[in-house]
Amino acid sequence: MLKKWKRRRTSENVKENIFLRYSLIYVLGGVLVCPQVFGEAGNSKFGSLGKLVDILKIGKLKTCGDESSSIISPQKGITPSPFLTFAGIRYLSLSDIVKSLKCSIVLNNSNGFAKITKGGATVQLTAGQSYILYQTSKIYLSHELKFNLGNILVSYDDYLKVLVPLLAINLIAEKTPVLKTIVLDPGHGGKDPGAINARLNFSEKMLVLQMAMLLKAELVKRGYAVILTRETDSFVELKDRPTKAGRADLFVSLHLNSATNSSAQGVEIFTLRRTKNFSGNTFNPWNLMAAYSVLSAFEKTTNFSNRGVKMAEFVVLKSLPCPGILVELGFISNDAEAKKLADAAFQRKIIQGLADGIVKYGENLKKKR
Ligand SMILES: [Zn+2]
Repeated sequence: MLKKWKRRRTSENVKENIFLRYSLIYVLGGVLVCPQVFGEAGNSKFGSLGKLVDILKIGKLKTCGDESSSIISPQKGITPSPFLTFAGIRYLSLSDIVKSLKCSIVLNNSNGFAKITKGGATVQLTAGQSYILYQTSKIYLSHELKFNLGNILVSYDDYLKVLVPLLAINLIAEKTPVLKTIVLDPGHGGKDPGAINARLNFSEKMLVLQMAMLLKAELVKRGYAVILTRETDSFVELKDRPTKAGRADLFVSLHLNSATNSSAQGVEIFTLRRTKNFSGNTFNPWNLMAAYSVLSAFEKTTNFSNRGVKMAEFVVLKSLPCPGILVELGFISNDAEAKKLADAAFQRKIIQGLADGIVKYGENLKKKR
């Protein structure tokens, strides 16, 4: 009898324990992941949704995949902040995120600005903005940062696909890729000149081909196998470019920007839009890692202004069978920048930046493994 009672108490303690620790519940692909447990490296805990609902007595808990879900009621004093939903988008509070990722908040202003750190990484967040600042690079988000009751709110999607990869990459369960073979994709070609600067008689298709050839030589020197989607001034259909990445580990598309405002300048890197369901999204964490690795190295060697990591639904990225990025090296429409992009000595800085960034990405992958 006593034994039975003890066993019951123990099981209740366990329930209580779980009740306290499972503060936020996310459902991803049918698997429950608890951020409060996230931090215990190599000791992640999982449970079935039904069981947890039972234990937590939450009632109508809705899964993250259910766009109709509204606020999950907090259990006073025990359950955590809920997902807050604005216009159908789920948000988490920064203070809960910081706990779950075991970061430190070094600054948290009541006006909606916060600075968090982990290891050597710093992320700055400002309510109302649609990007965060990671080290020196803006990383654009899927949803604007909100502010509610003194707390910055980050969308669940951005938490999972931006903050976790940036601050706690070890929590990413997907297999870490290797980096041996790289596909370089000089944009445009043949009948498609891309952007042009008529004043200087420069075309995007020629400059990116020049730089892709130089980058290939540099990467081969550094021990990588390199494939180009075109090696001459020839037209290659957009849809045929990703297929050349069949056996590659990274796809890097090279382009030049153009704007009607001739003072627009700087480098920006695109990854595939993370909220959509493209096969290229399988590599979200690595796309982001490649983008910020290349962007920060490029910024260092060229001193170009850093326009950040953005997202787009480019055809060459949508169906990639490996991680990939699209680099807009600079603005051909800005005469001063276009002259640098076409200058042999400056091109060496560009190539060094791209190659250093790609190598850094490979090192980051190794660290994760
Ligand atoms: Zn282009």
